[in-house]
Amino acid sequence: MRRLLRLLTLSAVGTLCSVGAAHAAAPTVVTFGFDDGTADQLTAAQLLKSHGMNATFFVNSGKIETPGFLTWNNLATLQTDGNEIGGHTTNHVDLFAATDAQRQTEVCGDLTTLKSHSLAITSFAYPYGSYRAPGDQTYPNAVEEVVKGCNGGNGYTSARTTEGIDPSDCDLCAEPLPVASNRFFRTRALQLRSGTTAQQITDAIAKAQADSQAQARGGWFQLVLHNVCENNCGGDYTTTPAVLDAVLTWLAAQPADKCYLVKTVQQVTSSAPLTCPAGPTDPGGTGGTGGTGGTGGTGGTGGSGGGTSPTTTTTTTPVQPVIVDAPPADPPAAAPVVTRTPAAAASRSGLPTVTLLAPARGRAVHGIVTLRARVTPSTGVKRVEFLVNGKVVATRTKAPYTVRWNTSSMRPGRVVLSVRVTDAQGTVVRGASRSLRVTATAHRSGRR
Ligand SMILES: [Zn+2]
Repeated sequence: MRRLLRLLTLSAVGTLCSVGAAHAAAPTVVTFGFDDGTADQLTAAQLLKSHGMNATFFVNSGKIETPGFLTWNNLATLQTDGNEIGGHTTNHVDLFAATDAQRQTEVCGDLTTLKSHSLAITSFAYPYGSYRAPGDQTYPNAVEEVVKGCNGGNGYTSARTTEGIDPSDCDLCAEPLPVASNRFFRTRALQLRSGTTAQQITDAIAKAQADSQAQARGGWFQLVLHNVCENNCGGDYTTTPAVLDAVLTWLAAQPADKCYLVKTVQQVTSSAPLTCPAGPTDPGGTGGTGGTGGTGGTGGTGGSGGGTSPTTTTTTTPVQPVIVDAPPADPPAAAPVVTRTPAAAASRSGLPTVTLLAPARGRAVHGIVTLRARVTPSTGVKRVEFLVNGKVVATRTKAPYTVRWNTSSMRPGRVVLSVRVTDAQGTVVRGASRSLRVTATAHRSGRR
């Protein structure tokens, strides 16, 4: 019960901020999470420091002071500099595959060890992002229960996955803020790979920002990084200092009215309000050329606006359950895993139920195909999206939810069709999904 109350409190305190009276802005919070505690992450810490920013370093206590990893002194210095140290199990084990006893030792034993070194630990990250079977919607599941339960429920307040932010799909382009109560132990993130460019990262962050603003709510964009070094020193999970620096420089240069904040996980999940950096706003429209940079978060670099002096206020927003399920980490491109919300669970919670009416499961389709869905109840539906292999191919904002999908540019083969509904409160329900077979279109098959 105490845990439940604590979660509700945490959920209710996520804040939106408004900068200026007429121009409400919601923060887009960017969190840099560095996993595994490798020594090369000290380079990242220096870059962050040079921009006045902080990050969360998720470490394995069993590797501290071993060759190639951070030392206890390093962790103390990082914390003193304003960074957060988080838990990541003692020995980097796959918790989903572990026994319950191993989970206890690896998660809670790690927490005890980290705390014994005077580190303020409240955030956890799942090694390999592994905490459940694909598509398992149980919350909290057995692994999450262990993380939540350490120290009698007074240990960890959040746990991060390595999945769920999809820059190509803006219902998943950031974690909605405030964090929904059933997401604290499965917060979303985007894992960077060695080929990820600074441009791709900043584009994704900007998209999340635009989407958050459009939905008049905050968005939380967590990045997962591993080694920070040259020449792929960490294999496929390497970010070069140049890429990281370019992203930090871009963030620092964003105008204050975009309301970007760089925060640690602890800062996002704690009760402290997330306020937009103070900066010039445009309600007066007097066209001044001044404008000083912001003082909070990333700091604005000023803007072309001027006129009125901004005020910063915080408001609370009601907790909205978000039960979108996310694909697993690193989904194979050819076989996206699409999960569904069981209809019964959705109706129990008062959320819409989605049924895919056409085409029939397993059907072979070609050319123009009619897709049809039913949403119950039909009131309060903001939009219905049809997705193929996780990408939106058509959107309807009114019933009937019937659309035409042109398959002629698709390669023949199996695809997964799914439907996603957003209700008036912004709650997203992922409904039925099914496999279809796209065949060569008539004129192509005629040439064979
Ligand atoms: Zn890891």
